Amino acid sequence: MLEIKNLVCRYGKVTALEGISLKVPEKQLVVLVGANGAGKSTTLRAISGLVPAASGQIIFDGEDITSMAAGRILAKGIAHCPEGRRVFGEMSVLENLEIGAYLRRDAKGIADDLDRVLDLFPRLAERRKQVAGTLSGGEQQMLAIGRSMMSRPRLIMFDEPSLGLAPNIVEQTFSIIQGIRESGTTVMMVEQNAFAALDMCDYAYLLEAGTMVLEGKGEDLIKNPHVREAYLGAG
Ligand code: ATP
Repeated sequence: MLEIKNLVCRYGKVTALEGISLKVPEKQLVVLVGANGAGKSTTLRAISGLVPAASGQIIFDGEDITSMAAGRILAKGIAHCPEGRRVFGEMSVLENLEIGAYLRRDAKGIADDLDRVLDLFPRLAERRKQVAGTLSGGEQQMLAIGRSMMSRPRLIMFDEPSLGLAPNIVEQTFSIIQGIRESGTTVMMVEQNAFAALDMCDYAYLLEAGTMVLEGKGEDLIKNPHVREAYLGAG
């Protein structure tokens, strides 16, 4: 469904991605793990059209989207749930969710998806009139996920969904992400919590300093000595 070929991204003189390649097959959950600064967020930002590619290609459904504007990429069905749960703090929960659907014109479909999101997140349903800035961290994360779902994406990308959340909320967030994948939406996820991410994914890539160093099924990466030592705190 999504394929990246030899992607290079630069911020001025800093090369963040040195020619990476990866594939995200339809209806699978693919994770990207790696240390701070490895280039994980840059990869997602490049797919969304928020960072330009210096060279290489990003293909979605057979179409080259490498130089497409971010709004068009979203309209093609790629949603991005960025790091740090950026909700619109002054707006209500409901308004934040409605913004997620701003490119859609199918009022009935939007209303159905809103019901689905509020069913999935009862805490958001209870707080639908509350301004988003006063929600707890975990609730804001739920809202950011719900908002990405409102564009009815075919591919949804999560950047560090567990960052800064209490352990029980982390578990809940991961089970919601698994539920999204089980409902047939393709998922790509960047996660520092390498063990949980590898445990739940279909396939994984390991990025180190802008280079893809390892790929395989999650269960195989969990067993890999280098991964165990560097990312899972085991010998
Ligand atoms: P983290 O887990 O810490 O978010 P990451 O793997 O997502 O790390 P990126 O945010 O993609 O890493 O950053 C990759 C490299 O690009 C880093 O060296 C970072 O300092 C650099 N970088 C990221 N954004 C910018 C920017 N706007 N300007 C300059 N350099 C940047």
